[in-house]
Amino acid sequence: MINLRDLTLAEMEALVREMGQPAFRAKQIFQWIGKGKKDFREMRNLPEVFQQMLSEKCRIATAETAAVQKSAKDGTRKYLFRLEDGNTIESVFMKYKYGNSICISSQAGCRMGCAFCASGRNGLVRGLTPGEMLSQILEAEADTGESIGHIVVMGTGEPFDNYENLKRFICIINDKNGKNLGMRNITVSTCGLVPGIRRFAADFPQVNLAISLHGTTDEIRTSMMPVNRKYPLNVLLSACREYTEKTGRRITFEYTLVNGINDRGEDMHRLADLLSGMLCHVNLIPLNKVDGSGFDTVSREKAVEFQQFLERRGIPATVRRELGADIDAACGQLRLGQSAPPERQRNLPAQETERKNH
Ligand code: SAH
Repeated sequence: MINLRDLTLAEMEALVREMGQPAFRAKQIFQWIGKGKKDFREMRNLPEVFQQMLSEKCRIATAETAAVQKSAKDGTRKYLFRLEDGNTIESVFMKYKYGNSICISSQAGCRMGCAFCASGRNGLVRGLTPGEMLSQILEAEADTGESIGHIVVMGTGEPFDNYENLKRFICIINDKNGKNLGMRNITVSTCGLVPGIRRFAADFPQVNLAISLHGTTDEIRTSMMPVNRKYPLNVLLSACREYTEKTGRRITFEYTLVNGINDRGEDMHRLADLLSGMLCHVNLIPLNKVDGSGFDTVSREKAVEFQQFLERRGIPATVRRELGADIDAACGQLRLGQSAPPERQRNLPAQETERKNH
């Protein structure tokens, strides 16, 4: 049974043609899918016989809300969704002055193994399908009764480790017959998979790119992010320069501040040196503490000190505003809290291993 939420409009057209129907029917189905309809009988402009044919061949997979935490302060809602196969994923709905935004997951688990991050604790289970990424938006819209205008692929998982599905997802949500989300309203965050950055620059020059930097020497960055062994700083930053030259777009560098690891004066200076002259913006994030990681966070004053220093050096910088501080904020914590005890299944990219399914 084909999950219709997984299909781009072109794929939907091929399917509809295969079923002996005119192509415009694909557009109609695609529009209903984008509106969150889950029942073929609700697709009122389709003939009944075709609705019946669809229900025999296709399904509309949804994500079931397993838990939701609502912030009383700022309207942030954190969801734990259960997928058809029982895997759980997290998404966070946030309200900003410019509109509603959702941070979605791209994988169940993650194999990047960043030391301070809860999402990768149990390793990778699998990449999400385009429909599973879309469901996070549709279910959050249904729950809040509000429409979402900005998508951030910054939840659990490494989006460039699931590139093909990410690509189809972006095509689906950007389509004017579907959610019609502008490319500039979509942001994808990567830990720095260089081939992915290159493909992304070619495929989606208008989509915002964020890079998790976190360290200013290979030694520090590798200790926090094993991916740095495969794509060290000089390789990563030259891919970033190439990206800005090719697309003319500013890169956002995320810098999670960890006490005693990357928050010293020398780190601040090196950070400015590394990014000097690049078309970029730095987002400083005081670490969200994760139990058992052994890492400590920094004060807001420290983050502001970094920000002011970078600004003086001509590098635009902001300190991430804390939303949903009264709910489990850190990435992956809700999922971790509900899943079985950690079973280490980390496949680091440096070792080039196959993906594990379990
Ligand atoms: N894999 C992608 C996207 C998911 S992580 C990436 O690495 O960019 C999204 C961001 O949250 C990354 O910058 C990541 O380093 C950061 N992050 C993860 N755990 C965190 C924590 N405990 N505190 C603060 N930031 C964290």
